[in-house]
Amino acid sequence: MTKNRAIILDRDGVLIEDKDYAYRIEDLELLPGVIEGLKILKEKFIFFIVTNQSGIGRGYYTEEDFHKFNDHLIKLLKNESIDIIKTYFCPHLTEDYCECKKPKTKFIKEIIKEFDVNLKESWMFGDHPSDIQFGINGGCRTVFLTSGHGEKHIDELKTLKIKPTIISSDFLSAVKEVLNFI
Ligand SMILES: [Mg+2]
Ligand SMILES: [Zn+2]
Repeated sequence: MTKNRAIILDRDGVLIEDKDYAYRIEDLELLPGVIEGLKILKEKFIFFIVTNQSGIGRGYYTEEDFHKFNDHLIKLLKNESIDIIKTYFCPHLTEDYCECKKPKTKFIKEIIKEFDVNLKESWMFGDHPSDIQFGINGGCRTVFLTSGHGEKHIDELKTLKIKPTIISSDFLSAVKEVLNFI
């Protein structure tokens, strides 16, 4: 039986505009090329979101606010026939030393365990070095997008010697490059 290929998506700065701790539905804004890109990818991949949401730990918004906002995004995508299988979120602060904050790999392990995923043929899409480190630690390929916070973190990648498989300025260009690997 063939295993699933997965695309693990960071949320803020990858799927939607990163507006720093956004939780109001009116602030939810899909990034260009996301719908079109996911429609292409869904022929070959299943989708997950893994997102660090320290805004919860900081008390900027509640877990309930997070769910309302995220459910709205899932619904918008569903209306386009795009299914996000599951969203994993870390509500903690760095100083909580939890096991779920990217680049820690708790969620990637859960994905492999719960869904029949071949990580070697799967991808992590992110706009932060910790997303890329998460993907590398987990054993998948990685896309670093400069669409969100990526632009300001690109030097950090070099300093930390973190090498994404692909660096791309927008979602749709990244998708086209990913297809070359299949
Ligand atoms: Mg992000
Ligand atoms: Zn956590």
